[in-house]
Amino acid sequence: MSGTTPTDTTDDDPPHDCPDCDRRFHRESYLALHRGQAHGDELTDGERAAYEAAREEEEEELRMFRLQALAALVFIYFGFLLVYAFSL
Ligand SMILES: [Zn+2]
Repeated sequence: MSGTTPTDTTDDDPPHDCPDCDRRFHRESYLALHRGQAHGDELTDGERAAYEAAREEEEEELRMFRLQALAALVFIYFGFLLVYAFSL
């Protein structure tokens, strides 16, 4: 594999090592999140910007997951309600 920065993860991606501890991450954004949460006092301006960007990206993904989970629950609820209503 080349040494380019991955935008998506596979098992072949080079791991990203935290310079302050022994943890390794497959995604650069995971490393940025770890560095912001575990080593927040030692971040450079660039690392802090990467942490903020990774955090915003993760919050957006979490918001989408919650909406999808809510939609699935509503769909299942009304599905069972319709099955129940027509089985009487
Ligand atoms: Zn670390």
